Amino acid sequence: MSFTQFDFHPGIQSGIRDAGYTSPSPIQQKAIHPILAGKDILGLAQTGTGKTVAFVLPILQHLLKTHRSASSAAPSALIMAPTRELAEQIHESITMMAIHTPVKSVAIYGGVGKPLQKKALKQGVDIVVACPGRLLDLMNEKALSLKGIDILVLDEADQMLDMGFLPDIRRIIRSLPQKRQGLVFSATMPKTINNLVQDILNHPIKVQV
Ligand code: AMP
Repeated sequence: MSFTQFDFHPGIQSGIRDAGYTSPSPIQQKAIHPILAGKDILGLAQTGTGKTVAFVLPILQHLLKTHRSASSAAPSALIMAPTRELAEQIHESITMMAIHTPVKSVAIYGGVGKPLQKKALKQGVDIVVACPGRLLDLMNEKALSLKGIDILVLDEADQMLDMGFLPDIRRIIRSLPQKRQGLVFSATMPKTINNLVQDILNHPIKVQV
């Protein structure tokens, strides 16, 4: 199996090549086609399986296909993560995969100053990778609009719920457009995740590795 089967934009293919990835991991083999087809996904996968790239590549393809990258006034994709470390990792993975494309991403998390994050948002980004608390903060300050979001990802959803982010997540999701694609990744499937998934995903395809 190779990445060429997915017919990615040439800029994405160059990013994959530069990263040295030769073949898709099992979660990538299972998840990329349905995500590209616009389906909602519930992915059961641990860290280390390559789950980040499994959602990053189809998001990049979507942005490049719809010609909304770079110049867009509002971001098109929102990825929520429980910790700043994970948000930074996802942001770095996006930067690496998107290096030959105009797609821009920003990582938003607390514990550091807001000005740089606000400046990046002002300059225009396509993908926001955020921890829920700081994201809500910036939303309340009108530093960003989520009106253009058409792909939502919850990464390590079980950990986010363990950390008490559920009310924040629900508040954030209420300000997203109804018509959107949803992807939820979680290492475990407690009942609380099931409830959330039923509320926010539409006939999700379950992908497990
Ligand atoms: P993740 O599970 O998303 O945290 O990814 C774990 C590690 O696997 C990261 O360091 C990625 O750079 C790497 N990785 C992701 N996809 C591939 C692939 N297809 N081939 C080789 N390494 C990969």
